[in-house]
Amino acid sequence: MNKRTTETTINDGLCGWDGSLEQLCRHFSVDISPLQDVAKIYPARISPYYRQLIQAPGDPIWHQAVPDLQELSDPEGIEDPLDEENLSPVPNLVHKYPDRALFLISSQCPVYCRFCTRKRKVGRSEMQITEETIAAGLDYLQKTPAIKDVLLSGGDPFMLADQQLENILSRLRRIPSVETIRIGTRVPCTLPARVTPELAAMLARFHPLYINTHFNHPRELTAEAKRACTLLADAGIPLGCQTVLLRGVNDSVTTLRELFRGLLAMRVKPYYLFQIDQTKGTSHFRTTIETGLALMAGLIGHISGMAIPTYALDAPGGGGKIPLTPAYITGCGQTLEFTTYKGLACSYPNRHWNGT
Ligand SMILES: *Cc1c(COP(=O)(O)O)cnc(C)c1O
Ligand code: SF4
Repeated sequence: MNKRTTETTINDGLCGWDGSLEQLCRHFSVDISPLQDVAKIYPARISPYYRQLIQAPGDPIWHQAVPDLQELSDPEGIEDPLDEENLSPVPNLVHKYPDRALFLISSQCPVYCRFCTRKRKVGRSEMQITEETIAAGLDYLQKTPAIKDVLLSGGDPFMLADQQLENILSRLRRIPSVETIRIGTRVPCTLPARVTPELAAMLARFHPLYINTHFNHPRELTAEAKRACTLLADAGIPLGCQTVLLRGVNDSVTTLRELFRGLLAMRVKPYYLFQIDQTKGTSHFRTTIETGLALMAGLIGHISGMAIPTYALDAPGGGGKIPLTPAYITGCGQTLEFTTYKGLACSYPNRHWNGT
């Protein structure tokens, strides 16, 4: 499987979206040259579907997809903040937790998100997915039975043609120690037409299989996205969502309530709300932790518990994810002192009952 045979097929088959920046700039009468300067370093691609969600320059969809000069003047970002390369025993397989591994099987996406954690490689020549890297990854998984849960990611695994994905999934399923398979994909959000009944039926042959998708703003919850999620959910695939908290895009309580409620109504369970990684070229999207905690306090108790994700920070250097939770506990001695979601003081006996 080389780049030519795997990844160009889907691009050509779905739509020629080269020139997406040209069309965008012409439509909104925006000067293209600074955008092209950025795109020379960090590739730009916006699927026609996602482009039509943009209503005006600077709106929440625009910020996620359109290059910004701030990407080139990021003083403190780090190329590989999670140290993924050092945690890869073979190229494109990150083994950082004892029982699970992240396996990168595609270098492309329908939209190159400006805040991408793997901005250093996704969509660039630095990222080489070949038949050799896939085989080496599968071989490592075969030899490492401690790994029970494999996360397929990239790039976007749904950029592969159905048979190519099916081929990888069947080889993965032949490894007895692999119990669960997860696919991380933004396709339901950025290219929902790619989710077909055939794709869903193929995936259903590899249960237990989970999908974590990635929506960041309620305007992404369209009828097309809902159709894609319904197809996958009807194939028995539990759907989660990994949202990234982005300054100027979704850092408001109203936006997040609408997003998470809307996802739940689309049968997608919000899983993580990520504090953004320190990736070089993305610092302009960073919110403070206080902002994130205040947003969580505005969600917990106020909307369905099913709609609440875990606010998580992926530790720099590959330490793993930690939950960030608003402080409800104000004291813990003979009684637990705490505040309710409405901010009322409350207490609870913190001792065993030893009879009278
Ligand atoms: C996030 C991540 C996982 C999965 O973590 P969960 O908390 O189980 O969702 C696994 N491997 C790597 C390298 C990751 O970054
Ligand atoms: S879809 Fe995911 S991997 Fe692809 S550019 Fe966006 S954040 Fe990065």
